[in-house]
Amino acid sequence: MSGLLNRLVSGAASALSSSSRQLLGTKTAQVQNHVSGFKVKSMLKLRCRSCYFVRVDGRLHVECPVHPRHKQREMFNVKLLW
Ligand SMILES: [Zn+2]
Repeated sequence: MSGLLNRLVSGAASALSSSSRQLLGTKTAQVQNHVSGFKVKSMLKLRCRSCYFVRVDGRLHVECPVHPRHKQREMFNVKLLW
């Protein structure tokens, strides 16, 4: 039973990743939104004094240990793919 469930889940996950990869070529600010708990913004702001910038995978992130809702992520830059 659990084996079947695992196969279903992994199948769904792979389908999801392949479809999101296809979408990556086009407009994708909202697709990226559910990948992690980050807000995706074109303009990053430090919203309190404990916010700080981090560069992850060539993108700028804002981390905040005090207020997790301050976490932000730069919008996906398609130009970086080429
Ligand atoms: Zn903050």
